[in-house]
Amino acid sequence: MLIVLKEKNHTALINEISDLLEKKYGCQSHVIGQNRRVIAVTGETAGIEIGLIESIAGVKSVDRVDRPYKLASREQKDRTQVKISRDCVIGDPASVVMIAGPCSIDSEEQLMETAAMAKKKGVKILRGGAYKPRTGPYAFQGHGEKALKMMKKAGEKYGMATISEIMKADDIGIFEENVDILHIGARNMQNYDLLKAAAKSKKPVMLKRGLAATLEEWLLAAEYILAGGNPNVMLCERGIRTFEREVRFTLCLGSIPALRELTHLPIIVDPSHAMGKTRWVKDVALGGVAVGADGLIIEIHPRPSESMCDSAQLLDEEHWNDCYDSVAKVAEAVGKKVC
Ligand code: PEP
Ligand code: MN
Repeated sequence: MLIVLKEKNHTALINEISDLLEKKYGCQSHVIGQNRRVIAVTGETAGIEIGLIESIAGVKSVDRVDRPYKLASREQKDRTQVKISRDCVIGDPASVVMIAGPCSIDSEEQLMETAAMAKKKGVKILRGGAYKPRTGPYAFQGHGEKALKMMKKAGEKYGMATISEIMKADDIGIFEENVDILHIGARNMQNYDLLKAAAKSKKPVMLKRGLAATLEEWLLAAEYILAGGNPNVMLCERGIRTFEREVRFTLCLGSIPALRELTHLPIIVDPSHAMGKTRWVKDVALGGVAVGADGLIIEIHPRPSESMCDSAQLLDEEHWNDCYDSVAKVAEAVGKKVC
């Protein structure tokens, strides 16, 4: 971190700042330059409150230089590859992993039928919501633990790994018993108790981008999971809230090349929740692959109108097959295969 002072040679101010940084944050100050106007700060600088330093009279500017996340940073390593099963690795530069399944698990029959639809195309990871974060309290909230058990059964029956959304830290045990990947949804991206619980788990975690989260806030949320001991974190871009109302959310495909520079973590794109309409899902899925996503997560259903949740964005078998085949072509064009 670099602190630039307004005046040169201001020894009293230099001492005041050095003392504060030493006592409060355990950091060391080094005055640099002939004019003695710049303080270089070393040590564990991530915890320093920039606003506090900037508010000291006589301070001109503060530049963090290093990013506030460390373990999530690309400086740590080039790429994280998360091994899901023998033939499925998320973050492998040669593949795009397709995750598909219903929005919510409505019944065992519906889940099995949807899993069969995904499996027919060779999908290796089945999604399905047991605990649904709904905007209103009267909407279907999910079948909970019962549905997680159905997920386990479907995964075993079709030989697929499974992913489901966890909403509270206390549920870690039942998720670990029943699913292979923990999904932390957009609304819980900053649920720090949940992030800390996921950090203690052996299961990989897919962390969705919060509805109004910057890339830095998102990576800091990922940092919680990494810092707590779980290295298998994947990011999922699912769109953010903007002034636009024609699409459900504003999918930030530009975040993918930017994240590639900032982090080594794999990036998955969710075109379903971003678009909110079946007929728009495919095109945006293709865009995700074209800009370099490591995976896609797509909601499918044999009869979308029967779904308890998100009917308007689900792909029926015809749309799904078309989407999958088109994704395979774009993947091939960018030198990858769909897995
Ligand atoms: C979901 O994937 O089921 C979901 C609710 O997504 P999000 O958290 O992105 O809204
Ligand atoms: Mn949904």
